[in-house]
Amino acid sequence: MSTPELISQLTNLAQSHAQVEEIKKKIATCDALIHENKKAIDNANITLSDQRDMVAAAQKEVDNLELDAEVIQAKESVLNKKLKTITKQREAEAVEKELHQISRERSTCERMLERAWNVLTLAKKKYTAEQSENKKKTALFHQNIEKLTLEYTGYADELEQALASEKLVALKVPNEWVDRYKNMMESVSDPIVQIVGGSCSACYYSVVPQDANRLRKGDMLSCRSCYRFIYLSPEQQNKEANPAY
Ligand SMILES: [Zn+2]
Repeated sequence: MSTPELISQLTNLAQSHAQVEEIKKKIATCDALIHENKKAIDNANITLSDQRDMVAAAQKEVDNLELDAEVIQAKESVLNKKLKTITKQREAEAVEKELHQISRERSTCERMLERAWNVLTLAKKKYTAEQSENKKKTALFHQNIEKLTLEYTGYADELEQALASEKLVALKVPNEWVDRYKNMMESVSDPIVQIVGGSCSACYYSVVPQDANRLRKGDMLSCRSCYRFIYLSPEQQNKEANPAY
C-alpha cells in the first residue's frame, strides 16, 4: 500500500474511531442522566415516606395523650363520687386535695393534647402537599427516563453501526498499523505528521539516516522519539531525490 493511500485509510480509521468514541460519550451521558432521574424518584419517595412517618408519630402522640386524659377523667369521677359519700371533714379535705392535684394534671394533659393536635394537623397538611408534589415530580422524572431511554436505544443502534463501519475501515488498513494507530489516537490529536527539514514536525527529533532512506522511498515509519507516524510528502520526496544545486 502506498503512503498516500495508507494516510487516507488511517485518516478514515481515525474518523470512524472518533465517531465511535463520540457515541460512547453520548451513551454514557444518557446513562448518567437516567441514573440521576431514578435517584431523584427515590429521593422524592423517601421525602414522602418521611412525611407519612411524621403523621403516624403525631397520631400516636395524640392517641397516647387521649388515653392519659381518659385515665385522669376516670380518676376524677371516682374521687368526685367518693367525696359525696364522705362525712368526715378531714377525709373530705384529703380527697379535695387529691382532686385539686388531678385537676392540674388534667390541665397539663389538655394543653399537651392541644399541641399534639396542632402538630398532627400540620403534619397531615404537609403530607397531603407532599403527596401532590411527589406525583408531579415523579411524573416528570418518569417522563425524562422514558425520553432518555429512547435516546439511549437510538445511540446503542448508532454505536452498533459505527462499530461495524469502523471494523470495515480497519480491514482496509494493514493489521500492523491498526492497533498502533488506535493507541496513538488515544494520546495525541495528530498521529500522522510530516518530516520537515529532516525532523519529525511534531517533536523535532532528527530522523536517523537509515530511516531517511526508507522515508525517501515513500515508506511510513514511526518517529523514534514520539512514536507518531512520520512520512515525507511527495514534493519533499522529489526535493530529496533531486536536490537543486
Ligand atoms: Zn516525533
